[in-house]
Amino acid sequence: MTDRPKAGSCVQYYQDMYSKRSAEELVTIARIKRFSERVAADPAFRTEITASPERARSAAEEQGFKIDPTELRLKDLKMASLGNPAARRSLTPLATLWLDWIEDLFRFRDLMREDGYATEVDPRFNAWRRRQVERTRTELGQANAQAIVHPVVCYELSKGCSMGCWFCGVSAEKFQGYFPYSPENAALWRDVLVVMVGKFGTAAQTGFCYWATEPADNPDYLEFVRDFQRITGAVPQTTSAAPLRDLAWTRGLMDLQKSLPAAPSRFSILNLETLLKLHETFTPEELLGFELVLHNKGSVFTKNLAGRTLRLVDDEGESKANLNINPHATSIACVSGFLINMMDRSVKLISPCRSSERRPLGYRVHLEGCFSDAADLDAFISRAVESCMPSSFPLDTRAAFPEVFSYRHVEGGFAISTAYDQRTLTGGPFISRMGDMIAEGSRTGYQILETLIEDGVDFVAATATFQELYDKGLLDDEPLPA
Ligand code: SF4
Repeated sequence: MTDRPKAGSCVQYYQDMYSKRSAEELVTIARIKRFSERVAADPAFRTEITASPERARSAAEEQGFKIDPTELRLKDLKMASLGNPAARRSLTPLATLWLDWIEDLFRFRDLMREDGYATEVDPRFNAWRRRQVERTRTELGQANAQAIVHPVVCYELSKGCSMGCWFCGVSAEKFQGYFPYSPENAALWRDVLVVMVGKFGTAAQTGFCYWATEPADNPDYLEFVRDFQRITGAVPQTTSAAPLRDLAWTRGLMDLQKSLPAAPSRFSILNLETLLKLHETFTPEELLGFELVLHNKGSVFTKNLAGRTLRLVDDEGESKANLNINPHATSIACVSGFLINMMDRSVKLISPCRSSERRPLGYRVHLEGCFSDAADLDAFISRAVESCMPSSFPLDTRAAFPEVFSYRHVEGGFAISTAYDQRTLTGGPFISRMGDMIAEGSRTGYQILETLIEDGVDFVAATATFQELYDKGLLDDEPLPA
């Protein structure tokens, strides 16, 4: 068996976030976190807290929060978190403690994205993943793309999901059963993890064990996670929308998360009652390592326009009343790598994209197949690298921009844009000409280069521009018919 990898830099960083702070500081951070969750989720509480300093203090005290909300100075905190240096300097010690924690979590997230490029990984896979990261930035905009960490793998340990959330961004099917931790299944699972560690080294730690599934739907979920920890070297992130379904299960998950190195986990909150009950059941310190994703009605956070939310938007693009949906199509998909379902032994190579009529689930499927055992999975991954990840654009195929981009010819170049972002490439009339031909989407790379060279364009300059577009993920590897 492959040696267990050392902790990657992200899980190490997360571990250090705890060890570099005193126990007292961690208690205070956990209390601020709890207070912030309630403010973000509960409109009535939010009104009290923002009314006047006196009402804010009394509302917080009445609800049992052990911090003074006026000391947090929420407006300054918001400005500082948006990068305003003057607001940052004027923060109170309490607000600074909180913002430092949040910034550490963002740093953890960035490191997780970087950990996916482990040295053990095939360079062609790394270059392919980098192209997906770049493309996602243009398709979804910097702010949305920053939250996507592009793990190299995720595993489904059941089929479908019992929760049936109306906003499900990946339109999970109805729950159809789970993959039990039988001796045979456990052996296959461990073999699969060994293959992934062999192929991806430390990057295998960025993986997680759910997708369009609810972890708590598999009563053996924690056993699978224990194997994940033993074989990859870290406890993976879990996101569960059912933290109150079985408290023994939730406590078991919390115990596992404590055995660092681990990635922080998340609970999705579907209604305010669940938040209040969760706060009542677990102490702030117990929930410190769990981000609460506030999907409840009245939450300040918007839902992403992808999957099921697509059908709840009218023809004018306006979201229906009170659904709080982002009006611009986006994605909740995060993996640039392999989606593996252990129940039906299926595997797909996927990457995030802006949701659209063609790809409503917000991800591309570059290749799919099945496997009978771990060696078969290993062979599929090698095949995916060979067939989907050429290091330069295959010039004998049609060149086109992804269809979600709008194209515009500009002086000496061109611009492509979405609702979120615009990329402009300039440098001479040949770039405009090249952009126009790619936007037409009817020529192969060779035909475009031939036309340019016939027009007197330098071969090296033209091929370098083509490669630049390819490296930025701006040439579609699955173009629509012209
Ligand atoms: S959002 Fe998550 S919990 Fe809800 S239906 Fe989709 S996969 Fe299940």
